Amino acid sequence: MSQTSSPDTIHDLIGVGFGPSNLALAIALEELAETNGHALDALFIDKQTDYRWHGNTLATQSELQISFLKDLVSLRNPTSPYSFVNYLHQKQRLADFINLGTFYPCRLEFNDYLRWAADHFATQAVYGEEVLRIEPALNDGKVDHLRLVSRDQQGREYTRRARSVVVGSGGTPKIPEAFRAFKDDPRVFHHSQYLAGLQKLPCTQGKPMRIAVIGSGQSAAEAFIDLNDSFPSVKVDMILRASALKPADDSPFVNEIFAPEYTDLVFNQPHAERAKLVNEYHNTNYSVVDVDLIERIYGILYRQKVAHQYRHHVLCRRDIEQVVNTAEGIELTLRDLATDVRQTHRYDAVILATGYERRSHRELLAPLQQHLKDFEVDRDYRALASPEFAAGVYLQGFCEASHGLSDTLLSVLPARALEIGQSLYQHLGNQASNAPTALRATSA
Ligand SMILES: Cc1cc2nc3c(=O)[nH]c(=O)nc-3n(C[C@H](O)[C@H](O)[C@H](O)COP(=O)(O)OP(=O)(O)OC[C@H]3O[C@@H](n4cnc5c(N)ncnc54)[C@H](O)[C@@H]3O)c2cc1C
Repeated sequence: MSQTSSPDTIHDLIGVGFGPSNLALAIALEELAETNGHALDALFIDKQTDYRWHGNTLATQSELQISFLKDLVSLRNPTSPYSFVNYLHQKQRLADFINLGTFYPCRLEFNDYLRWAADHFATQAVYGEEVLRIEPALNDGKVDHLRLVSRDQQGREYTRRARSVVVGSGGTPKIPEAFRAFKDDPRVFHHSQYLAGLQKLPCTQGKPMRIAVIGSGQSAAEAFIDLNDSFPSVKVDMILRASALKPADDSPFVNEIFAPEYTDLVFNQPHAERAKLVNEYHNTNYSVVDVDLIERIYGILYRQKVAHQYRHHVLCRRDIEQVVNTAEGIELTLRDLATDVRQTHRYDAVILATGYERRSHRELLAPLQQHLKDFEVDRDYRALASPEFAAGVYLQGFCEASHGLSDTLLSVLPARALEIGQSLYQHLGNQASNAPTALRATSA
């Protein structure tokens, strides 16, 4: 659906991106509309043509890394119709899911859950438009609302206006400098494009290939397993700088850092202490792998030793010193960080499981920079701004430094959505459009 507001419409809120963060907000706003007796006029814009949660990474074996109980709503409102359990009930799979005996559904299923929830907000969502920038609209020397400029897939531009924006545009794939020259080369792609990228490679027709997977995190491990299981003609080298594949710490005491209450603890610390807390628990989320995947990879390598057939390798402690594009393939010169020995390996394709950066908010909000205090936010995720800036700018997923490690994950979505929703009602006050309370989707 493509909604273009009339040039006079000023929405209460436009959400940039309709991933899990802004979807959780749409649900919280529906609840708040009931308690406040009126709904906000909210619209969400996503650049994808339909709802997909990291769609190109959904290899069949990949699983959710947190409990399904940390869905869009349950930690705030276990009676919400938008819970994962109600989704299973609606799809008539609840009893079967219980029989699985797991807290960790496959990501394909969680994607389907999110899409099901998003379908209930179809009238508030615009798909297939990328927001390019968010500009200030001045009125009597005050910025009282914002202009969002977006572009659809045919190149047409649209301008919409809103009193507040909530930026939930997610991470940006991190491409190491040495691979930037391969931007348009189908043999080199980031893991965020895993399924689409593979489709262009000859291994999908059963042709032999040597593929390098760069990285030491969950995505690299998932790619390794998928290439092993799905493409018998592929030999994989997993290349990492770390000295070993390390397990993600999801033990129960450590997991308490992802509880919504922990956000207060992190936020109330001085800046230096916040950074210490984030660093101390880095190994819950970054450059680490679920231990069951590590054990599977180890098992695969062990069976190779038994059979004396060395199809795959895990090359630890390797720094990539040089990347050369040759007619025969992509040559990587690797330096062993312990021995200083260099070796050159040739690959037919390279998959960059090199993580994500959180900077898209800075690009989108660049025209507002002079009014904002370096994108720092208050406890309610509202960007701190100078007095003449009356519009609201909220950030979801860009506040790890101030709100803790859960900020980029699913764990705090229900609590954060409510906090932002309440702040929106409080700040919009009398200006809000007082749209009638939206009817809750009956099938939810
Ligand atoms: C492969 C992968 C697996 C993960 N698995 C887990 C997990 O198991 N558990 C967990 O807690 N976390 C996981 N995460 C972390 C992930 O960040 C969260 O699960 C969640 O996706 C965050 O939601 P979000 O809405 O903030 O961001 P995203 O899910 O990234 O959504 C952002 C949305 O914004 C849209 N968008 C971006 N820019 C624009 C623009 N300019 N204009 C319009 N639309 C735009 C995108 O199309 C996208 O739909 C995973 C991340 C990845 C990459």
